Amino acid sequence: MSNVKMQQNTISKITPILKQIEERVERHQAKLLAAFQKYRVSEAHLQSSTGYGYDDIGRQTLEQIIAELFGGESALVRPNIVSGTHAIAACLYGALRPGDEWIALTGRPYDTLFKVIGSPHDGTGSLSDLGIRYHEIGLTDEYRVDWSEFQQKVNHKTKLIAIQRSRGYSNRPSFTITEIAKMITQIRKILPNAIVFVDNCYGEFVEDQEPLHVGADIIAGSLIKNLGGGLAKSGGYIVGRRALVELASSRLVAPGLGIEVGATHGYLADFYQGLFLAPHVVGEALKGMVFASALFEDEGYTVSPTYQEKRTDIIQQIQLDSEEKLITFCRAIQAASPINAYVQPEPSVIPGYTDPVIMAAGTFVQGASIELSADGPLREPYTVYLQGGLTYAHVKVALKQALHFLKKYNKR
Ligand SMILES: *Cc1c(COP(=O)(O)O)cnc(C)c1O
Repeated sequence: MSNVKMQQNTISKITPILKQIEERVERHQAKLLAAFQKYRVSEAHLQSSTGYGYDDIGRQTLEQIIAELFGGESALVRPNIVSGTHAIAACLYGALRPGDEWIALTGRPYDTLFKVIGSPHDGTGSLSDLGIRYHEIGLTDEYRVDWSEFQQKVNHKTKLIAIQRSRGYSNRPSFTITEIAKMITQIRKILPNAIVFVDNCYGEFVEDQEPLHVGADIIAGSLIKNLGGGLAKSGGYIVGRRALVELASSRLVAPGLGIEVGATHGYLADFYQGLFLAPHVVGEALKGMVFASALFEDEGYTVSPTYQEKRTDIIQQIQLDSEEKLITFCRAIQAASPINAYVQPEPSVIPGYTDPVIMAAGTFVQGASIELSADGPLREPYTVYLQGGLTYAHVKVALKQALHFLKKYNKR
């Protein structure tokens, strides 16, 4: 079959899935519009504050809007949260005290959290260093929560249970809101008073509901992923129960200061407009990932999720089976980027990773993974993690180019 014909087949196959995505975008867009109108967002809200940032009406209103949309009592949406990891760490440091214990329920957390967790007496001020004990429950062979191990690890000191929604860079599937809801029901049966924290990175606006809607207490994420809509230049968010958000803000800033202060400098207009665009941009990225999944599956590659599987994040895994193909793929994505397209990515050793990693990220905002980016560790089965895409068209152009590069490589 010719390439053009093949891609037409891919497109017709995914059309019903794309339609579902578009319908969800419209539902989110309507909710967002209603929230903007309810809170009477005006030009004044887009003007950022300076100095201490007291009475920053734009910041306060944005936080109310996001709290309401995500099902929380209160929120922090701030440019001075430097990353997703920082937002997550603020939640954990806010809620946990020396002597408390906490459990990662969904296996190994995202790599950047290893140093936050730390180890006892490591002298770094990590959670473990402060005497907060950590337990990790590995997933079963079918990537399910191991409840019998959980039962063994809980005791009267267990204060917080952490769930990671997205697969991150692991081989397991992401956990949908329905699956998270079941986990929370089960946790409440065993530990009615535990705090349930969800790392919501990459999940925002992918489904109709967010983890707080199904019983989580506090969630966190990055603004240079889904929620910033591609326009936020930095920042993170925390949403949840008022008392927990306040505790997180005390760790983020200082006790008694967190919620009330924090100048927004020049960020607010981008935050508002980025939030407004976020459902659409997430939809574009999702359409791109569905296309990638179908296209590469048709070419005989193993993909996860498959194009018709339910999604809860914007990540697509493609198993490329050789080091050369992984490198070729990432170079093709870089070469199809708007920024730094002339740069050729090389595998390199990154602290915290055991194998060298290759990354493609020709993004407007440094490291923004709501923009099209691809990366993968150089180890079997040479899986590439693809995510983001501000426009569906860009993802299609880039993926066709990647396939073309791989075919040229095969002929050699
Ligand atoms: C991206 C991500 C993080 C960390 O976010 P950074 O902004 O890179 O610090 C944590 N957890 C998951 C699942 C992520 O995808």
